[in-house]
Amino acid sequence: MRKAFLKKARETLQEMREQLLRNVQAELHEGREQSKDEGMDTYDLASDARDREINFILTDREREKLQAIDEALARVGEGSYGACESCESDIAEGRLEALPFTRLCINCQAEREKEARMNKRFEEDRTYRRLTTGDTDEETS
Ligand SMILES: [Zn+2]
Repeated sequence: MRKAFLKKARETLQEMREQLLRNVQAELHEGREQSKDEGMDTYDLASDARDREINFILTDREREKLQAIDEALARVGEGSYGACESCESDIAEGRLEALPFTRLCINCQAEREKEARMNKRFEEDRTYRRLTTGDTDEETS
């Protein structure tokens, strides 16, 4: 992985992280406006308390994304960024540009999606059989 690319990836990830937190903070602020009369200004609190509060109001989706971003940043730090988690080959730079926090190369991602689809179909098959086995015996005898 090229140094310049890593540097850019880190910047992109940090930007995404800030953007996400800014959105959350905006929501947080809106909520605060409505309950202003309670007279508490938690914006003066230590930032770790604020972080906890932000963490508390994150939706699952936002939390997952934030976590993915943080993990990607950690991988940049330890030098494993850009390597596929599954097959360990390099993830294409174009893919990393589009999805900076992805952990899988395009092949493994496709493979995983195929598996997920197959599992789903298998589940549906089983449900279908369970629903229909009731009267097949009588028909064949
Ligand atoms: Zn892979």
